[in-house]
Amino acid sequence: MSTVLVTGGAGFLGSHLCDRLIERGDEVICLDNFFTGNKKNIEHLLGNNRFELVRHDIVHPFYLEVDRIFNLACPASPEAYQYNPIKTIKTSTVGMVNVMGLAKRCGARILHASTSEVYGDPLVHPQTEDYWGHVNPIGPRSCYDEGKRIAESLMMNYHEAHGVAIRIIRIFNTYGPRMDPNDGRVISNFITQAIRNEDITVYGEGTQTRSFCYCSDLIEGMLRLMDQDDHTGPVNIGNPVENTMLELAEAVIAAVGSKSKVVHMPLPKDDPQRRCPDITLARKWLNWEPQVALQDGLKQTIDWYRKLITP
Ligand code: NAD
Ligand code: UDP
Repeated sequence: MSTVLVTGGAGFLGSHLCDRLIERGDEVICLDNFFTGNKKNIEHLLGNNRFELVRHDIVHPFYLEVDRIFNLACPASPEAYQYNPIKTIKTSTVGMVNVMGLAKRCGARILHASTSEVYGDPLVHPQTEDYWGHVNPIGPRSCYDEGKRIAESLMMNYHEAHGVAIRIIRIFNTYGPRMDPNDGRVISNFITQAIRNEDITVYGEGTQTRSFCYCSDLIEGMLRLMDQDDHTGPVNIGNPVENTMLELAEAVIAAVGSKSKVVHMPLPKDDPQRRCPDITLARKWLNWEPQVALQDGLKQTIDWYRKLITP
């Protein structure tokens, strides 16, 4: 049994991770500032004596004794991370220094939730871990993209200078129950719009692509990466099936049985045109690949959203 810190543990992915860690018998400390997290995501764990909830912001130092750290604290949806860009940068820089300092002092192994956004609007397709990316350093997404790139750099430097055991997961678009219906991400928007029979807002022509991974697959990959002892460098975890946003809109309309129609809205600045992970490393190092098809994952997610949203 390990004592495991999950920063951002009350968020969408963090709460699913806490569930898995509790299921397998770990002691879990969930730390969150509730910027985009929600107590409802973890309220079922509050009575468990191996689960502890701490309200804290990683931008401020904190002292705990832990064996392992999963660092997920950071808003993930473009609307949320652009709401206060300077705070987003502080979370991935000042916050990251605090988290790395904790890992160093405790001798804890740390896994950091990085992102496909480190590749920016990629010129290499599909994206492999050795691609350095194509990021606009001064654009509206840069607070997130550059923050995550600095966080990776900090990790490598703490590893090289102080021998901290690091794991870097580059997460590609992941979805599922507990995604905040109002977070502005494409799957949350399309499903809430479809359930309400409202227009489905496709930004731009809808020919841009994303590759959608279901949350249970992602958490499995995250745990396998943390638990293996051989590899330090970044690993893509995502679903290599690529969809245009128009295809996604049609899939959501069909899965909901909705009367919604597609409308087109302006494409946000610097919106990546294509995104798809090369998961060769994950297959080789972790024996991992996604198990849940988009249709099945959408169904699970829609069932969950229907309990929250009135048509
Ligand atoms: P989320 O917004 O649901 O979760 C993030 C959590 O971090 C929230 O609970 C939020 O309150 C908390 N948080 C934010 N700033 C904090 C701070 N300064 N101190 C303490 N807590 C803070 O998002 P998510 O989808 O669960 O993403 C989790 C992590 O995975 C993030 O780091 C995100 O960048 C990364 N990621 C997610 C995706 C995805 O598709 N879901 C893709 C790439 C990377
Ligand atoms: N998008 C869309 N309609 C929406 C929300 C998003 O067409 O209501 C598009 C967005 O422009 C992007 C893709 O969906 O091309 C994924 O957006 P999201 O915000 O989910 O995440 P991103 O991958 O851009 O960080």
